[in-house]
Amino acid sequence: MSEVILSLKGIKKSYGSDSARVEVLHGIDLDIRRGELVAIIGPSGSGKSTLMNIIGCLDTPSEGSYFVGDKNTFNMQPDELASLRRGFFGFIFQRYHLLGHLSATENVQVPSVYALTDKAQRESRSVELLSMLGLENKTQSKPSELSGGQQQRVSIARALMNGGQIILADEPTGALDSKSGSEVMRILSDLNKKGHTIIMVTHDPRIAAHAHRVITIADGKIESDRINEDVPDYCDCDNHESFESSKKLNIISAFVESFKEAFTMAIRAMVANRMRTLLTMLGIIIGIMSVVCVVALARGASDKVIENISSMGTNTITIMPGAKMGDMRSGRFRTLNVKDLKALKGQPYVDSASPTVQNSGLVQKGNIDATATVMGVSDEYFRVYGMQIAKGRFFNSYESVMAPQIGVIDNMTKKTLFPFEEPIGKRIFVMGKPITVVGVLTDKEIAFTRRDSLNIYVPYTTLMNRIIKQNYISSIIVRTKDGFSPAVAEASITSLLKNRHGRKDFFMMSSDTIMKSISETTGTFTVLISAIAVISLLVGGIGVMNIMLVSVTERTREIGIRMAVGARERDIMSQFLIESVTVCIVGGLLGVSLSLLTGLVLFYLAPAIPLSFSIGSIIVAVVTSMAIGVAFGYAPARKAARLNPIDALARE
Ligand code: ADP
Ligand code: MG
Repeated sequence: MSEVILSLKGIKKSYGSDSARVEVLHGIDLDIRRGELVAIIGPSGSGKSTLMNIIGCLDTPSEGSYFVGDKNTFNMQPDELASLRRGFFGFIFQRYHLLGHLSATENVQVPSVYALTDKAQRESRSVELLSMLGLENKTQSKPSELSGGQQQRVSIARALMNGGQIILADEPTGALDSKSGSEVMRILSDLNKKGHTIIMVTHDPRIAAHAHRVITIADGKIESDRINEDVPDYCDCDNHESFESSKKLNIISAFVESFKEAFTMAIRAMVANRMRTLLTMLGIIIGIMSVVCVVALARGASDKVIENISSMGTNTITIMPGAKMGDMRSGRFRTLNVKDLKALKGQPYVDSASPTVQNSGLVQKGNIDATATVMGVSDEYFRVYGMQIAKGRFFNSYESVMAPQIGVIDNMTKKTLFPFEEPIGKRIFVMGKPITVVGVLTDKEIAFTRRDSLNIYVPYTTLMNRIIKQNYISSIIVRTKDGFSPAVAEASITSLLKNRHGRKDFFMMSSDTIMKSISETTGTFTVLISAIAVISLLVGGIGVMNIMLVSVTERTREIGIRMAVGARERDIMSQFLIESVTVCIVGGLLGVSLSLLTGLVLFYLAPAIPLSFSIGSIIVAVVTSMAIGVAFGYAPARKAARLNPIDALARE
């Protein structure tokens, strides 16, 4: 007699909770020896499947002990039980339980994927097994393209994939016609001759007649256990086929392989449910897209301002009346005057300085009317801003103070007032006063002025004394000498003017201070966007979680099958996590692409709205979507991994 490899002692199994508790198995004692071919028969509902599931470590008994070899299964961790299902047992189910989206050979390979077998080896073995079972032409067929008998043969190949020392077959012929049924039975007998231990459940006496040992179960108890002398016992034959422990992958390639496997599964699941996947992603797509766009817009806008500021020059300081930038009352302060300007010009760090008096009003030439900004400045103004003359000349320092009725116009004014003639020496009317044009500026962009507005520059004395009658100046613009730090210059201007005025009734704007206030504004803006981003991504994440939960429920049977052939909890967990991460990353990438597309479209349709994308924000977007995948995929994945294999299998 060969050794006992499975031993059940006083196994009881009940279903339901305390009040509605039903005992299905009432104490089963059973020993199975290596190499036996055992048939279990009995009426429907007598507990055959329940017993098989306990033997196969898919289910646990309520009472009693079950030894596999000399190990008590009661003490085993889920992963150890999974390892038994994977390497020791091979399951064959009445309804085949193949994975519908995998081909025959892929189905056969599932147990060895979890066993981390080398890919080439598992492929060749699966084809070998399928050919042995007469399916060499069907290796690439999906289960739906195979007949029942063929599907059952695929599932036999799967049971043998990792060795299948003990084959558990629960009504393997139950769903087959008699011809396919006897074919399957012949295969099982052959396997038994090769040394596989086979336990099968059947209610067909003709099938049971092929077994050497027949156990009858009725109402949860073993009624009889007899030897069928017509069938030879192969137990003691010395022909055990031992499946050489296959070439295993090292840790790193095992990790890569299982990742690739899970990733392929994820992509297949996503493609199979295209519409749903897209809708799931939508939240992430919109979230990522809006964030990337708004960040690009903010960057674009601040780039634009910075460009403006650099055209203003880095060493100009504008002094204005009022307490600080944006002071509403600054118009009422009339404290800056021409004497301040003279004092400033005496300072060693001042290269040039110009007052500005600004107004706007009607300009006329012949019968052409237009509204222009009229700037009263000194000759040094042009130097401060580095303006270039295209035709004619600037006014000089003498003219600046003598209030002659002359002016310099910009290119836009020339185009408007002098469409057909040369302006130099011609007379225009500025707010009713005649002004002779002496120069035209080049068409260069000037900081903080609109390109499409008309600008006319006249000596400040002319504007103050002759045109608008005003005795204070709007602002003073100072250009500091190279080599003087702007901060030092600002500090000494402050103390100088404070002394003169007796209080600080002015403020300064330099490229430095503007930069600072821009970066503050951008900072606030960024915080605001981040808050919106977090909310929209949170909503997207909840969508992903919702769909993943649905997916786990929908694919419970698949999870059950995978667990039955030996998937560990972490295998199931990573499969679903990788799926949710993939959904989120693809969503994130789509969001990024869409925002780049938006940028492109805006670039052509509305070039004034600058979008400036940064690699940084794109990377952050993708990483964030990945994090969402992990965070919101975790709970569904854990739910899947914690499923009880037998409950999962029972689900349809
Ligand atoms: P068999 O395979 O011999 O037809 P089963 O082992 O499937 O019988 O079932 C035995 C009994 O246990 C049946 O009465 C069935 O209703 C009950 N049963 C099986 N599974 C469950 C379950 N998950 N919950 C409650 N009752 C169950
Ligand atoms: Mg059954």
